[in-house]
Amino acid sequence: MKITHITAECYPAAKAGGLGDVAGALPKYLNKEGHSAEVLLPFYETDWLKNVETELIYEGTFPYHSKSFPFSIHRVKKSKLGFELYLVEIPGRFDRPGIYIDPWSGHPYWDERERFFSFQIASLEWLISRQSRPDIIHCHDHHTALVPFMMKECFRFDAFRDIPSVLTIHNGEYQGRYPMDVYQSLPAFNLQNLGVLQWDEGLNCLAAGIKSSWKVTTVSRGYMKELLTFCNGLEILLQHEQEKTMGIVNGIDPEVWNPKTDPLIDTNYTTTKADVGKEKNKKALSEFFSIPGDRPLFSFIGRLVREKGADLLPDLIRSCHSQGVEASFIVLGTGDPSLHNLFKKLESEYVGYFDSRLEYNEQLAHLIYAGSDFLMMPSRVEPCGLNQFYSMRYGTIPVVRGVGGLADTVIDISHNDGYGIVFDNFNLEEFVEAVKRGVDIFGKKELFENVRKKVMKLDFSWKRSTKEYIEMYKSIIPK
Ligand code: ADP
Repeated sequence: MKITHITAECYPAAKAGGLGDVAGALPKYLNKEGHSAEVLLPFYETDWLKNVETELIYEGTFPYHSKSFPFSIHRVKKSKLGFELYLVEIPGRFDRPGIYIDPWSGHPYWDERERFFSFQIASLEWLISRQSRPDIIHCHDHHTALVPFMMKECFRFDAFRDIPSVLTIHNGEYQGRYPMDVYQSLPAFNLQNLGVLQWDEGLNCLAAGIKSSWKVTTVSRGYMKELLTFCNGLEILLQHEQEKTMGIVNGIDPEVWNPKTDPLIDTNYTTTKADVGKEKNKKALSEFFSIPGDRPLFSFIGRLVREKGADLLPDLIRSCHSQGVEASFIVLGTGDPSLHNLFKKLESEYVGYFDSRLEYNEQLAHLIYAGSDFLMMPSRVEPCGLNQFYSMRYGTIPVVRGVGGLADTVIDISHNDGYGIVFDNFNLEEFVEAVKRGVDIFGKKELFENVRKKVMKLDFSWKRSTKEYIEMYKSIIPK
């Protein structure tokens, strides 16, 4: 099968979160299974893309709001990615360092709609100009959710009408909502079908994708169930389209996330010598963060937003400190400016107990997975979550709220086959209790080492999930 992914993120070229990891791994593992997967990504000015060698393979124009704009396609040369990566260059739209957020202002780019509408139209223009047709076009989140609509409805893409399209929802909170009249930016289609773009009085990209694509997937079974009852207004639509929905849990790329070979950590290690290796990484981490290395270390990595429950962390740290809980805490993340201020304040109030780096730092994230004892994920909403997989691969025990993909993938240690710490309700008391359980386990050396080894041996690799994607693709390709 030939599968074309169209996505706003793809690791290592451009990553803001889990979508980047998925789009950088799934195509590689599809190819390993004997298929032919490729990725189309905007040509951002990220560090990785500025330094990679590319060749220009196509120049053309795309229609936008009844005008015509130039674009070009560049192929990444000598790629070790495991798939072909094509970059869509649109002058004035993507020649900037940020993916969604302007790194200088911390705010989303003002022209998000123009950027991603243009990217989707230009991508289809190029795909339709090629001789060979993909068997599947796989889109991700609202940034590319208009592709299935355009394939079905826009006259100029008529040749793609019978090609199956898949939309994966990595996060249903963000939907790409705009005033209805922006439909005029899209290539011509039968206006009798304008309603396909509409949801709640406006144009909703995710809704249009759900209605138009042949299959809608999300990144865990648990999250799919949750979306049917709450998806920021789209739950009724998803219930209506339920027959074409399914959840496939994400995997991790063990070639990137491997403590034995990871070049981004202080000391490499294997399961057998995990205690020694992790101790060295913890030492490096403790020095970097100015915290003592002998206490259990609880870390958080992620976007500092409500969804991730990041706003519960300040109270957790205060509460644990006041109750004399012997532990240390670190946070790596960016997000809500008011949380940035709060964490900065806490840093000076709880020197040696808590520290943070409020930035996006891939290398530091790897060191934190390697050097921590526990990884905290107190999420309100968690489509799949990848951090719990990475932490376990590096022998760091996850402390999670049992929601969405976290409920599907972390089993509480109180169960026979358990290996993590799970709390059910989103509140401070249960979170503090979960941390205390971690401290208790840390004190029982043999138990702690056994759990650590157990989590390192669990297999959450892409192999299994890739097979599910392949079966799903096969089920929708016309016979
Ligand atoms: P999201 O909802 O943000 O996509 P996921 O758990 O699916 O959450 O994926 C998060 C990914 O982003 C992980 O690879 C994590 O290590 C990475 N990440 C998040 N924030 C940061 C940060 N500040 N620095 C480095 N990596 C980060």
